[in-house]
Formats: sequence, structure tokens, C-alpha cells
Amino acid sequence: MFENLSERLSGVFDRLTKQGALSEEDVKTALREVRVALLEADVSLPVAREFVKKVQDQATGQAVTKSITPGQQVVKIVHDTLVDVLRGEQDPGALKIDNPPAPILMVGLQGSGKTTTTGKLAKRLKEKEGKKVLMASLDVYRPAAMDQLAVLGTQIGVDTLPIVPGQKPVDIAKRAKQQATLGGYDVYMLDTAGRLHIDEVLMNEVEQVRNAVDPRETLLVVDGLTGQVAVEVAEEFEAKVGISGVVLTRMDGDGRGGAALSMRAVTGKPIRFVGLGEKMDALETFEPDRIAGRILGMGDIVALVEKAQETMEIEQTERMMKRMVKGQFNMNDLKMQLEQMIQMGGMQGMMGMMPGMGKMAKQVEESGMDDKVLKRQIALIQSMTKRERANPQLLQASRKKRIAAGSGMEVSDLNKLLKMHRQMSDMMKKMGKMGKGKMLKQAMK
Ligand code: GDP
Repeated sequence: MFENLSERLSGVFDRLTKQGALSEEDVKTALREVRVALLEADVSLPVAREFVKKVQDQATGQAVTKSITPGQQVVKIVHDTLVDVLRGEQDPGALKIDNPPAPILMVGLQGSGKTTTTGKLAKRLKEKEGKKVLMASLDVYRPAAMDQLAVLGTQIGVDTLPIVPGQKPVDIAKRAKQQATLGGYDVYMLDTAGRLHIDEVLMNEVEQVRNAVDPRETLLVVDGLTGQVAVEVAEEFEAKVGISGVVLTRMDGDGRGGAALSMRAVTGKPIRFVGLGEKMDALETFEPDRIAGRILGMGDIVALVEKAQETMEIEQTERMMKRMVKGQFNMNDLKMQLEQMIQMGGMQGMMGMMPGMGKMAKQVEESGMDDKVLKRQIALIQSMTKRERANPQLLQASRKKRIAAGSGMEVSDLNKLLKMHRQMSDMMKKMGKMGKGKMLKQAMK
């Protein structure tokens, strides 16, 4: 079910966001979960395996890039790979119906929504493309099916081939072709008989019809709710009759996204349309983005990832604040501050927001500091060792030279940074001594 997959992935990515950048182990753990989730969503094992491998190849390349949002990075890769696998080469809605009259053969199991889809598609061709369409039912086993198509035809204003009792399917197909030619139709649609299961008789019959009319499109209609079964049906039809595309019905229900994914991967045939209800206009062209989003529960995850990140930032900031007022403001804290400043629209904006920093903000403004400067300062801190970051007072001349050289800057740049750190650190200590109430008052001045 969609829910399971998206929930499961949410959990995985939630855990991912609690950590720093993407490590290979992170990606592996996440992908194990992705695979299980895909299997639960009724994606077949080989397809899930291949899919996960694709994502891994993509992700491993990016694992080195330090990302502020590793969860999003993986979500994006999984999403893009899904879209990639689902997308066919051609525009799914563009049916080959030039050279009138163009035959469209509709095949599938009984109850898959074949007759309904025939009507929906005829309506679409008539209204959206201005085509003159003829529909014919070849279901000689169930007279009710023939009547059903005739009723639909009346409802949507599309002609149906008159019913002649006792005719064989292949003969009805030939009659439809004749009538379509004589009547100047652009398209004639043949709604073949379905069975509960695939059998020889059904396949032979469809083959005969195919040979008689040489269809431009053979669309397989499958019930999207049947998951893996739908994929097996598609494989059979592709092997025996050859199909040009798939219509997934009942995608309005809480269907499994897995069917769509497996279908595409196993048969190599594009999904052309999706059925989204019983009404005659509940048919849409297949959009990989939308299905991928549905499979992933994309919106949810992205929101979740963002929330997790927010919480993480708040926690970090609180911890830093506590240390700062105790006079333990070190280079790691400063680096985090600088990074946040970039995120929050530069130094001025940030300084302006901090209590007691109004004057400094002005200095910053005068000195013309911008993101570039902030990034250079971050680079300086990155050139420091862990110990140096924790204890900036260790920084004597030789260390300073090394750090400046390591980040491609001058010692004077480093001195400026250290001065700034001292000033900030003093300010924090003062504020800490003042206590909360006074700090607020000071901030109001
Ligand atoms: P056929 O035996 O393959 O021709 O199946 P039908 O066209 O008679 O459809 C069987 C049932 O499924 C009917 O009640 C349809 O209204 C319903 N149905 C077909 N397509 C859809 C769909 O996309 N969504 C929903 N919810 N119901 C559908």
C-alpha cells in the first residue's frame, strides 16, 4: 500500500536527518529499508533489487558531498530514480491514430475495467482530439458486456457497432473495420472479451483479431489494485499478443504504487493512462512524477525532513547558547554561527537579531562583509585541528601560519577572525553574568 511505503521511508529518512552528512553506511541502511518497503508495496524482488542498485550508484557518488540535508538528498535520488524507471520514451497520451481508420485493440482480464476504459478513451479522443470514434464489443460470451458498451456509447455520444448475434469475434472485428472505413471514422476501438484467468482460448482469439485488423495500438487494461498479478498478466499478454502500452485502472483507490513500478520494469512497456474512478472522464495520461510522488509520499517526507532539521538546529543552538553563557564559546560554535548566518541572509541580518550586537552589525555593514567573507572564515576554521577549534587559545604563530596557508589566506585574516571570536565570546560572558532579565533589558535598549 502507498501508506506503508511512505511511512516506512519517512522513518528511514527521519533517522538519516538526525545525523550529519551522508555516509556510505547511512545510504546502505536506508536502501535496505527502501528495498523492504518496495517489496511490501508489491514490487517484485528483481525489480526492487535493480531499483535499489540504481539508487545506490547515484547516491554513492554524492555521498562525499557534504550536504546540510542528507535526508532530502536521498529522497531526491529515490524520487528521481523512480521517475526515471517509470518514464517511457514517448508521450504516454499520444496514441498512434493517424491513417484513418486506426484500430485500437483493448485487451485484459474480465473485471479489469476494460469496457469502462474503452468508453473513457473514446470520449477523450472525441472531445480532446476531435476524432470520430466507433466502438465495438467482441465479447460474444457475455451479451451483457455488449449491451454495456452500447449504453456507454449512448451516454458519451460515441457510435457503437450494431450487435449481430452469433458472430465470431474475428468476424465482428472485420465488420468494425469495414464500417469504420465506410463511415469515415478516424478510430475504431475493439473491446475484446476478458476471462477470469489467462487461457489458451482467450489468447488465440485475441491473436486472430490482431492478425485480422493489425491494430495501431494494443492497450492492456489491468487492475492497479491487483499488484503483482497485474504484472504477471502484462508479461503474458506482451509475450503472446504484444502490447503497445498499459492502462492502470482503480488508481483512485489506495492502490499499490509497486504495480506501476514493476509493470514498467518487467514488461518494458509504458503505462499510458491511469483510471481514477468509474465516471467517464476519470482517465488521465500517466505522469511518472505524480505516481513517484504517490509511491514515496514525497510531500510528507520532505515536510518531515524539514521538521527534523529544524528540531536539530534548535537543539544545537540551545546547547551552544548554554555553553556560550558559561564562556565556552569555541571555534566550532563560531563556525555553526557563520553557517547559520549565511542561511539567514548574511551577517548583518544575524547580528541585528542578536541582543547587544547592533553596534557590531553596523561595523559589519561598514566593513562590507558578505557571504564570501563568511565562507572564507568558515574555511579558516576548517583548517584548524579538532583541538584548536575547541581551544582557540592554542593558536600561536606557527599554528596560525599553517592554518592560513591551509585555507589559502593570510595570518591577518585569521587574526581578524580570532578577534571577532574574542569579542563575541566576551559579549556572551557578560550577558551570562547579567542573567536573563537584564539581558532582555539590554536587548531592548
Ligand atoms: P471489464 O470486465 O474489464 O470490461 O470491466 P468493466 O469495465 O465492466 O469494469 C468493472 C468495474 O470496475 C465497473 O464497476 C467499473 O465501473 C469499475 N471501474 C473501471 N475502471 C475503474 C477505475 O479506474 N476506478 C474505479 N474505482 N472503478 C473502475
